[in-house]
Amino acid sequence: MNIRQDVLPVRVTNLTKRFGSFTALDGVSFTVEPGETVALLGRNGAGKSTLIGCLMGFLVPDKGSVDLFGQNVLDLPRDLRAKTGFVPQTMTGFGAFTVGKLIDYIGAFYGRLPPIDPALLRWADLDPKKIVKSLSGGQRQRLAILLAMRHEPDFLVLDEPVASLDPHARRDFMNLLGDYARRTGASVLISSHILSDLERLCSRLLFLRQGCLVLDVPTNVFRATTRWLDHATPHILNDLPLQIIGQRETGLLVHGWSEDVILPEGTTISVPDFEDAFLEITATRAA
Ligand code: ADP
Ligand code: MG
Repeated sequence: MNIRQDVLPVRVTNLTKRFGSFTALDGVSFTVEPGETVALLGRNGAGKSTLIGCLMGFLVPDKGSVDLFGQNVLDLPRDLRAKTGFVPQTMTGFGAFTVGKLIDYIGAFYGRLPPIDPALLRWADLDPKKIVKSLSGGQRQRLAILLAMRHEPDFLVLDEPVASLDPHARRDFMNLLGDYARRTGASVLISSHILSDLERLCSRLLFLRQGCLVLDVPTNVFRATTRWLDHATPHILNDLPLQIIGQRETGLLVHGWSEDVILPEGTTISVPDFEDAFLEITATRAA
């Protein structure tokens, strides 16, 4: 494994982004350590792409800041910019290029590059002579991924990269991404609605709800400490070290559970399914 930076790849501090009077991101703070694979979870409109836009420096925050490799992303020097990779939600433009020419063209911005990882090329399975505008949605998405990964970035950001991939290509890509992060020590931040993929790949989970970061937790801690407590009401948990992250008629979804937490008699504990937990945590609530 390569030795990576001794600085944090990502530090997001109190990030707020407004579009007119609408607040798309509201005081979001988190960090990403070297080698972390981070899932960005949230409903449509939760602010995932806005956060990713701020992370990449395409959007200027109203408040707060994004530092990549210790420097503000809005004036990131070229050598640090070249350590990032970005897969947009939809790739537009470059229609008249052939696939091969576009790969060479984009690659040229990075200076001298090693040959493209054969596993990535095999997975992308693209004909270099094809014109970009003739590609199917899935092929275009594979091209966007190839372009973002070919220079082996230290911080890779992917905005719903598997939305138009078939299950074979998607599963193979998630494996490729996991291998990439392990092999290079790169940090990855990925948004997706395929929850099972994220749970398998990612070491950390960020849940966005209406522009707020409502939960930032290592995946193993989430698995070990998130529980349904049936027949429980918020007031009986007052003195317990539990965070209520969801509520339904029959009980509460809590975070911070362990064998040592003594619950009121009659409370039944069960392990939530990941999708159920996602639905609870990211549900839109009345203000
Ligand atoms: P997600 O990626 O989680 O689906 P987005 O970050 O794209 O959500 O959008 C978050 C909210 O901000 C949505 O309500 C969206 O309509 C709004 N929004 C995003 N971009 C703009 C923009 N350029 N102008 C106005 N509103 C925007
Ligand atoms: Mg989006």
